Amino acid sequence: MTDSTPSFPTGTILGYPRIGRRRELKHAVEAAWAGRIGLDELERIAADLRRTTRERLVQLGLGRDDSSIPESFSFYDQVLDAAVTVAAVPTRFADVVAADGSIDLTGYFALARGRAEDAPLEMTKWFDSNYHYLVPEIGAATDFHLASDRLVREVEEARADGFVTRPTIVGPVTFLLLSKAADGEAEGFRPLDRLADLLPVYVELLERLAAVGAQWVQLDEPGLVADGFDATDAEITAAVTQAYELLGAVAARPSLFVTTPYGEPGAALGALAASPVEALHLDLVRGSVPADLDDDTRRALATKTLVAGVIDGHNVWRGDLAAAFAAASSLRELSEHVSVSTSTSLLHVPHDTADEPVLDARLLSWLAFADQKVEQVAVLARGFVQGRDAIAAELDAASAALADKLDAPGVRVSAVRERQAALSPIDRERGDEDERVSSQSAALGLPSLPTTTIGSFPQTADIRRARSCLLRGELSHDEYVALMRAEIGRVVELQEEIGLDVIVHGEPERNDMVQYFAENLDGFAVTTNGWVQSYGSRCTRPSILWGDVSRPAPITVDWSTYAQSLTPKPVKGMLTGPVTILAWSFVRDDQPLGETADQVALALRDEIADLEAAGIGVIQVDEPALRELLPLRERNRPSYLDWSVGAFRLAASGVVPATQIHTHLCYSEFGTVIDAIRGLDADVTSIEAARSRMEIVDDIAANGFDHGIGPGVYDIHSPRVPSVAEVVELIDRAVAAVPEKLLWINPDCGLKTRGYDETVASLRNVVEATRQVRARL
Ligand code: GLN
Ligand code: ZN
Repeated sequence: MTDSTPSFPTGTILGYPRIGRRRELKHAVEAAWAGRIGLDELERIAADLRRTTRERLVQLGLGRDDSSIPESFSFYDQVLDAAVTVAAVPTRFADVVAADGSIDLTGYFALARGRAEDAPLEMTKWFDSNYHYLVPEIGAATDFHLASDRLVREVEEARADGFVTRPTIVGPVTFLLLSKAADGEAEGFRPLDRLADLLPVYVELLERLAAVGAQWVQLDEPGLVADGFDATDAEITAAVTQAYELLGAVAARPSLFVTTPYGEPGAALGALAASPVEALHLDLVRGSVPADLDDDTRRALATKTLVAGVIDGHNVWRGDLAAAFAAASSLRELSEHVSVSTSTSLLHVPHDTADEPVLDARLLSWLAFADQKVEQVAVLARGFVQGRDAIAAELDAASAALADKLDAPGVRVSAVRERQAALSPIDRERGDEDERVSSQSAALGLPSLPTTTIGSFPQTADIRRARSCLLRGELSHDEYVALMRAEIGRVVELQEEIGLDVIVHGEPERNDMVQYFAENLDGFAVTTNGWVQSYGSRCTRPSILWGDVSRPAPITVDWSTYAQSLTPKPVKGMLTGPVTILAWSFVRDDQPLGETADQVALALRDEIADLEAAGIGVIQVDEPALRELLPLRERNRPSYLDWSVGAFRLAASGVVPATQIHTHLCYSEFGTVIDAIRGLDADVTSIEAARSRMEIVDDIAANGFDHGIGPGVYDIHSPRVPSVAEVVELIDRAVAAVPEKLLWINPDCGLKTRGYDETVASLRNVVEATRQVRARL
């Protein structure tokens, strides 16, 4: 590093939760959308929140004026922020760019949420997290320019309060990798092809940031840690070189800090090392200290500040602080400038364990939410400055918590362990496919193209009210059960009247498809304020899987059997699968995920056995998150698919051949996980298809998929009611591609977020369309 380079702070975090400790931003943004407050008021609340955050971070041990506090605020999403900053707007939104080239908050929200005639940007999962980002659409003619100086203003705003903070933005290579080609672009066009046109906007932004006193800027490049983008490693590496040579050459700029959270940058590390970037982040939680570095890379890294991402931003455990310190220290072999940080932004974890009034104190002592993680970073940073002895007490306390966890009751339960140890491959085998098909068809007597739904019916205000009354003690348990039963009765009657073939109970009793099971299984805890942003203003409250999992008592059996008592048609039992339960919870990290998944699977296996014994002949085990946990690097995928598919099969294989197992997946990229879907060996798989106009059936046909399949014929993501003719067309497409005896007719997903009017109208059309197609078969 040259003398003019300001030194990088010894301790920092890559980002902080933005939604607010009391979800202030969520409430304010939603109030603005509903017109209850103006955008000025929203801006004021957001500025307050940023101020509170900066002050809080100083309180927790970050420096006020050393660039250790990241400016990581967002009104909705960091990828949308970058898109608006560089004016990457699709043509249907061209009018959100004002005459002077700027895009205001109204335009920003329009891109996120759509407008009457214009669909919003598509949303998809952010790396291997449960956060969703908006996918920019870029074409050959996208007119990149600096359209928002919001980040610059935030740095100024901080400065006015006496802070020198570090602006953060998605880096140019990742931004383009995450973008998709706009509609109507020539075959073969890729957003990455526009890198040279995009970079000048980043240059201008760097100059503006330097002008307001930013000493460091953080460019997030997680795109470098994942496979599967539409570019080769060599192309990505070349893009990194091109981008950072150019940005590095800007005369008046802040120092550059490039991060690669969620994994290992692989081939791109050499390019980053060779570039003029001053500081590089390495995720040492998901990745490791690079071992076999070539001499050039080694020499180049020695000139950088290496920022060790050792505090897990992705999970809530207090973790092994001594090991984190050792891992960070080991980077000193590569460079004498080493700092400590989180592995990812803290946006994936809740704010503060102090906000959990009912969690068990012992469990709490094992946890670290965002604020505790900032404190951990501060401790490690102090250790770097003052030596390990200075933080020995903190390291020991963390080690003691780990040791305490090891033998706390519930963490290792011998009955659970013994049952796991006794498992054999046959426990994951359903048995002969032909026998299953014939005995199920005899038992169920369904027409061809059987119709069903994915499980939930609309969660009405009455249902939610009943649940909150129960929580507040204003409704007794029996009263609540009576209300839910009445709801089930209505839903069953409605389905019979509409003419659906396989009936569901509607899931009114579930607050959430994972939390509901977590609340009813041993080994889980549920938080009071543990909100994390899922997308935009939407937050979820993941459960914490801390101990060995087992099922103290049946969970869904009463609800399903009650529904079955009301109708002669088969009722489908409804469970959430082991992989999805793990994916949407914070999971213990002291044993392989596969072992934890098997414990959940065994609990579900017990539930399935009880459902079967109670006369439920069709049981659906939802695995919408199967693809989400897929490792970012291809080389890690086989072992993941092995344990995830194995856990599903363990849950589902305890039944007799006549019991029909369904599964449901919430996405339409069938091709990428076809082997896994086949591996699940479910008798029937329902999957999203309506949104992509049944494109998926070609993949299904090409793969020779030979189990039951229900490609969705009704897009439940919008209130639009599909016409009979539209549904007929989709069913015809499916019938043309896939053997008719395999086909089921169902919506894309559950109906819980829909209103009743559109649901009933849509389901009627689905049933009528099915009748028309059947009549022709
Ligand atoms: N059975 C669940 C429901 O219908 C499935 C939800 C999901 O796939 N996300 O709501
Ligand atoms: Zn779904």
